[in-house]
Amino acid sequence: MLTRKYVFSLVLVGTSAFAQKPLIQIHADLSDAPRKMLHAEIDIPVSAGPLVLTTPKWIPGHHSPSGPVADITGITFTADGKTLPWRRDDVDLYEFHLTVPAGVHSIHAHLDSIAAAFTNNLAVLEWEKLLLYPAGIPVREIPIQASVNVPDGWGIGTSLTPISAYDPQHPAGGMVRYAATTVEMLEDSPIMTGRYFHEYALAPEITPKHYMDVFGEAPEDVEIRATVLDHWNRLIYEAGAMYGAPHYRSYHFLLALRGMRGGGGLEHHESSDNSLPERGLTTDDNEMAASDLLPHEFTHSWNGKYRRPAGLATPDYATPMRGDLLWVYEGLTDYLGAVLAARCGSISPEHFREAMALDAATMDATSGRAWRSTGDTAIAASVLRGGAAWANWRRSTDYYPEGKLLWLDVDTTIRKLTSDQKNLRDFMTVFLNKGGGTTPTVVPYDFNEIVNDLNEVVKYDWAGFLNDRVYGIHPRVDLEGIEQGGYQLVYRDKPSDYEKASMALRGPSKDVWFSIGVALEQDGATISDVRVGGPADKAKFSPGEKIIAVNGRIYSKDALHAAIRQSRTASAPMHFILQNETLVTLVDLDYHDGERYPTLVRTEGRPAYLDDIAKPLVEQRRAQAAPSGQ
Ligand SMILES: [Zn+2]
Repeated sequence: MLTRKYVFSLVLVGTSAFAQKPLIQIHADLSDAPRKMLHAEIDIPVSAGPLVLTTPKWIPGHHSPSGPVADITGITFTADGKTLPWRRDDVDLYEFHLTVPAGVHSIHAHLDSIAAAFTNNLAVLEWEKLLLYPAGIPVREIPIQASVNVPDGWGIGTSLTPISAYDPQHPAGGMVRYAATTVEMLEDSPIMTGRYFHEYALAPEITPKHYMDVFGEAPEDVEIRATVLDHWNRLIYEAGAMYGAPHYRSYHFLLALRGMRGGGGLEHHESSDNSLPERGLTTDDNEMAASDLLPHEFTHSWNGKYRRPAGLATPDYATPMRGDLLWVYEGLTDYLGAVLAARCGSISPEHFREAMALDAATMDATSGRAWRSTGDTAIAASVLRGGAAWANWRRSTDYYPEGKLLWLDVDTTIRKLTSDQKNLRDFMTVFLNKGGGTTPTVVPYDFNEIVNDLNEVVKYDWAGFLNDRVYGIHPRVDLEGIEQGGYQLVYRDKPSDYEKASMALRGPSKDVWFSIGVALEQDGATISDVRVGGPADKAKFSPGEKIIAVNGRIYSKDALHAAIRQSRTASAPMHFILQNETLVTLVDLDYHDGERYPTLVRTEGRPAYLDDIAKPLVEQRRAQAAPSGQ
């Protein structure tokens, strides 16, 4: 393909003329991490005259100009012991202008960075917090060498290659020096560090090596249950079976178990920076509710980091990113992450289907789909992460769940067209360049390549298929994948096990979304969003209002659910008392459909592709018995 001409190899230092270029030296001092502050000492090779230094603005994986320049503080520049004045660029606030005096070949920068998310026990250094390098040069061409020191006794997880003696399994504190690399690879190689740490070698028979670096807020947090470890081992095998050889030299899952709720991940070529609630793995239900996180971020090493939309494969972190293909970058990854979670056992096939039902129902109930395509949510990705009020009308980063349903549609369509002889794995083989391995490398693609690669699997009007589903306005969700998969989306009066586990881990938000059409905040009483066109919208409920009473009873979740259940047989509307700032109002809500929670039911007589999709590709016995290679 045309786009494949532009293959960028990211690991150059030490192998070429590049090695002769003087290195930036950056020392990251994390000794104050528990106090939410970190420091850097940076030596930058320069020549005399005007100099523009910059710090990352568009952060890979964020798909937005979210670089934390506002947290970078205490900046000073010196040369030969003398302070150099600096001025921030008036337009690009990430750039710093200096004049290097004659005869000076290296300047020293000191900076501090405020890190409000650090805790007493753990910290994550994503390098944009500290990086400073010459502007206007592709970041893959700037050599840099890093070192770090962490609080005494804290362990370190990272994909960077240490060159000073250091055993991360036995934390010692002190300074660790890493092999020279490029600004691009350093930015792509975070450091997670913490007081409570355990590094698990996953699928140790396989080369390259995989590690799960677990950090917690207490010693017991990092002791992982045997069943969870078994699922993680199987994940390595299942990914290899689906994607072929890797594009990393070793892979580190960095995992912070912290806080009550929330969590998330950021993908990198050779690692991922993940967080889950402190209790996120303590029970099978909690593991299930967050089962797609690690498979999702791991999948990104192939889809997102190695194969990357041309608009996201920018030469530096100043060039704006274009998100129009995020329905592949994130959407396909979301689908594959969910599939791998099922195949490695982190979620059962039944719960995998329940999760799919919840995504489908949520997208179907997202009213903004009446004016905005999935493709538009991708194009506008960098401005979408807004608040909860009327979020269903704005739409959010819907290219994730919409992409999941789209790629299920693609998968089942391939199966249907080929009488089950081919499936999405065949597409991945073509898309991932026949599954051959490389060191970290970026191979950009465009829309036409996706169409061509699908046509290589099976001839079809894929351009029409994708254009319609991605860029068309569809007031109802695409259920084709679920239905071709042998199932149907239905609503029942009780939440599925998956939805219950998800609500227990994440909060009540969508509990009554599919019935009366309100989303609730963590307190369970304040309305965070009102579904446009739904019953509560018609009754003029508004986000921010607090439910005080329902059907004559003081508000509680039980009282609300009892009233919704009774609505089926009641002829009168439901009566609410709502508090809106200082006002209290009586509102009638005309609703009679009872409780509504999504699930999937089998359509007899159709092939059960959805069941096949959730089945492991690798026999469990083999995964445990340790063959060589993947
Ligand atoms: Zn992602």
